[in-house]
Amino acid sequence: MNPTMSDLIKRAADDILEARHAIALTGAGISTESGIPDFRGPDGIWTKNPELEQKAYEAYGDFRVNPKKWWIDQLEGPVNILEEWGKAQPNAGHHALADLEKSNQLKRVLTQNIDNLHQQAGSQNVIDYHGNIFKLRCLNCNSRSSIEAFDLNQMKTTNQLPPLCKSCGDPLKPDVVYFGEPIPVDAASESEEEALKCDLMMVCGTSALVYPFAGLPIIAAGRQRSTLESYLTSGHVPTKSAVIFEINDEPTPLTNEGISHYLIQGKTGEIIPQIVAAVKAGI
Ligand code: NAD
Repeated sequence: MNPTMSDLIKRAADDILEARHAIALTGAGISTESGIPDFRGPDGIWTKNPELEQKAYEAYGDFRVNPKKWWIDQLEGPVNILEEWGKAQPNAGHHALADLEKSNQLKRVLTQNIDNLHQQAGSQNVIDYHGNIFKLRCLNCNSRSSIEAFDLNQMKTTNQLPPLCKSCGDPLKPDVVYFGEPIPVDAASESEEEALKCDLMMVCGTSALVYPFAGLPIIAAGRQRSTLESYLTSGHVPTKSAVIFEINDEPTPLTNEGISHYLIQGKTGEIIPQIVAAVKAGI
């Protein structure tokens, strides 16, 4: 007999209660209930408009070739993503993860999202794996600045684009990782360490198609580095495989390939709060 939703919620809560180092991985799906569309879900930005996906593949190369022109094109473009996403508020799923962290049952959130909603909900230990739309980052020295420190429209009018790094003088780009762009070294190494040392990974609202992020559950499942190596680098001896479960509207390659141990199918904004309530009832 298939487990019921309440069986699965209880199973997830018990797994979290048993874990010593639980982490959450999140993707665009956790923010759809805040009004930010995902890319590849049925109402996704790219599902509806494949041309935008093509542009996303070109963005990094275009920036490297001519950062000034790139910034002008962005500021003159039809979509002001900062204005649109800046109004979004965290939903019950973000709040529940922040709550779980406060009660010390969740050590870290690794997110692919660039929308800052985990931080807005109160999560303190967040790795912005693909960056944060409210920051600019230097590709040379990796230093980050708040986007509010620059009046980009004024800089365009006075011919001062692109914004420059205050540490090394190189052009700044939005702190958002585009296709073909390396993951910032700090986010990549800290995430890999987390995947090596966690004993529970809850994977929420990601299609698990974008690598290297989608490789993190595979690391946690297989511990591809030796336990000795991870002990030397992180001081933590991991179990062979972390418990991995997904919360998603639909199955993913992690489900289909048996990387995750179980899928709780449904909305993150409904399911995560139920799991957290069950954890709190069991403490
Ligand atoms: P994706 O669009 O590839 O997949 C989203 C997944 O979430 C799908 O499997 C979908 O079925 C599921 N989903 C959608 N709404 C859900 C809900 N309410 N509850 C449960 N599941 C839900 O997203 P991805 O895997 O994160 O990869 C896309 C890339 O796009 C990421 O790198 C991310 O940086 C970027 N992105 C970010 C945002 C954001 O910051 N909010 C939004 C769009 C895209």
